[in-house]
Amino acid sequence: MLTHNLGFPRIGIDRELKKVTEAFWKGDKDEAELAETGRELRLRHWELQRKRGVDLVPVGDFSFYDHMLDMAALLGAVPERYGWTGRYVDVSTYFRMARGDSGTGGTTAMEMTKWFDTNYHYIVPEFHRGQKFFISSTKIFDEVREALDAGYKIKPVLPGPFTFIGLGKSVSSGFDKWDHLDAVVAAYGDILALLGQQCEWIQVDEPILAQDLEPEVLDRFKPVYERLAQAAAPSKLLLATYFGGVDHHMDIIRELPVAGVHLDLVRAPGQLDVFLESLPEVMALSLGVVDGRNVWKVEMDRVLKLIRKAADVLGNDRIMVAPSCSLLHSPLDLERESELDGRIKNWMAFAVQKCTELHVLSMAAQDLNAVEPMRQNRRAWQERRHSPLIHDPAVEKRLAVVTPDMTRRTSPYETRAEVQREKLGLPLLPTTTIGSFPQTAEIRKARLAGKRGEIDAKVYVEAMHGFIADAVKRQEELGLDVLVHGEAERNDMVEYFGQQLDGYCFTSNGWVQSYGSRCVKPPIIFGDVSRPAPMTVEWIGHARSITDKPVKGMLTGPVTILQWSFVRDDQPRVQTCRQIALAVRDEVLDLEAGGVSIIQIDEPALREGLPPRRRDWKEYLEWGVECFRLSASSVRDETQIHTHMCYAEFNDIIEWIAAMDADVISIEASRSNMELLEAFGRFEYPNEVGPGVYDIHSPRVPDVDEMAELIRRACRVVPAERLWVNPDCGLKTRAWTETMAALANMVEAAAMVRNELKR
Ligand code: GLN
Ligand code: ZN
Repeated sequence: MLTHNLGFPRIGIDRELKKVTEAFWKGDKDEAELAETGRELRLRHWELQRKRGVDLVPVGDFSFYDHMLDMAALLGAVPERYGWTGRYVDVSTYFRMARGDSGTGGTTAMEMTKWFDTNYHYIVPEFHRGQKFFISSTKIFDEVREALDAGYKIKPVLPGPFTFIGLGKSVSSGFDKWDHLDAVVAAYGDILALLGQQCEWIQVDEPILAQDLEPEVLDRFKPVYERLAQAAAPSKLLLATYFGGVDHHMDIIRELPVAGVHLDLVRAPGQLDVFLESLPEVMALSLGVVDGRNVWKVEMDRVLKLIRKAADVLGNDRIMVAPSCSLLHSPLDLERESELDGRIKNWMAFAVQKCTELHVLSMAAQDLNAVEPMRQNRRAWQERRHSPLIHDPAVEKRLAVVTPDMTRRTSPYETRAEVQREKLGLPLLPTTTIGSFPQTAEIRKARLAGKRGEIDAKVYVEAMHGFIADAVKRQEELGLDVLVHGEAERNDMVEYFGQQLDGYCFTSNGWVQSYGSRCVKPPIIFGDVSRPAPMTVEWIGHARSITDKPVKGMLTGPVTILQWSFVRDDQPRVQTCRQIALAVRDEVLDLEAGGVSIIQIDEPALREGLPPRRRDWKEYLEWGVECFRLSASSVRDETQIHTHMCYAEFNDIIEWIAAMDADVISIEASRSNMELLEAFGRFEYPNEVGPGVYDIHSPRVPDVDEMAELIRRACRVVPAERLWVNPDCGLKTRAWTETMAALANMVEAAAMVRNELKR
């Protein structure tokens, strides 16, 4: 019963990878130094895994930026705009693909998007007509050599061709990216033929199998994998799936000439039975039982039963024990956390500890000596289950009496809109922003000093009041209709709330790669969540006290807080989400009581929480929308609730967006030229919409006519009475100069169209 790992965090315990790549980009380190740090990290991580008892260590999971970008480089799938003609993709071309050229007029980077429903971003492969694919990087082969020379038992890892193409995009109009499948597979064949001599197993990742796939694509799995298996022989292929069940494709999978299949049994434990029943005799099963995406210890007694059941059917030889997915998504080493409450820490396992868990589970399943670690694990789980740290009777009691009417506003939108119009007295096409204003060096300095306790609370509050006053003054000068306080006090829209909620804890070194050299330290929900005291009232109150204009209160919604945290795994996500919703609801009520008449509850992560398969969407959206409504619905008719989402794909979930029943929703729209509004028009979206009229992702300042034209377009789809004018998203990454210029133009554009409408 082998243990193996699907992938290991790359960044290093001191974020060495981040430091070296950023120094390289700046010119402070050269290519040799970059390569050397990469080598050190790989060797250190293989050693860590081996020492902890991982039998087969992954090779090729390391990357200087992203594994999908590495695959593009390996296949020579370099977009034409980089002018690459060489034999092998060089470091400079590689990073230009990832980051583009700096300065105006430079070549743009390749698109980046979220890797399934994780917070990791991959580089989107680009396909065009006439593209050629051939081995264009030696990275994977060099790393295999490096690992073998160092004496490791290895398993090379590659994203599979279906996932590579499926997650890519065609950039030639009318060109179907799947037309390249055969050419791509031919190159894969060459790659596998080179790897095939050197190892027993090769892992090919096809997480796309967790989704619904078109029959035309599914039909091609068998011929493609026949080619790949042949090329790889005598090595065996391990088809790795994760992030969801794949039993809906069982008929396809069982026909593939692969020697093993990996299943994510954390996300989809139910699929085990299906596979045990009909797995062909020639196939081994890799059981993904240790959660690769969370920070908790595996529950060994429970998981052991699962492994034993599988072993009874298949025999020990056909079982492998593994994490559910690559450990890329979990922090590296719990030992580094000296600040965590020891009791909570005892419930956790990071990547290094998860490797030990694999080993212990495999030993225990084979009745080899694992009694002591099993006992320790059992004790940790018992303590966790009964810990007063986790259980807050007040929260549980409150949750038990949540009733459907708590998720409904008193009156329907039409009635509310009338009262709100009267109370707020806003003009047609009111102008506003999404919440944050430029986070200047001065702001960040003050926040850091406050956090470190270098300045006392009073000085800190005064500093923040100063930033708020500045933001308010600027907005008044600009003539915006609904003001915001600017979010100077927030480093991050989830962490800020997490820090003030009970049930949350924070790591000091729990970094996880988000994209490239960017890492995040997600907060951890370990217990029942509640709000001991108001979280935002002070700041918004200050803004209100210095202006006569309405000030919008700013909150992060329950689904987004859930989605961007590590979440407890001892109760269903929906339950945790409801607790957060009640905490946000408390804040909403306090804001209203404090006289705030417009409150925005951001839900930018609602869409990314969608399960891989469509048939599961409804269940998720039902509770997600319910939680949003639970947080928002306590207010009086006259209080206006806004929400915000920063993406442009609404077609397939528009009815759920409407079901949120926010009075106003602001969305990204400028980059698609308002095209996304069609979904709102077609559906006859009943409430108010603020389609973004300028892209905040670049410093470019759009002129008045350009924005006026977008507003006119929007008026053709949504009646002007229900339209707002705002940027696509928050402005925290922008500088004040371009922000002032763009907002001045935006206010003028709104005035222009307003006048046209009056005529
Ligand atoms: N209110 C937040 C801001 O303006 C919203 C950010 C987001 O949607 N990601 O920064
Ligand atoms: Zn946004």
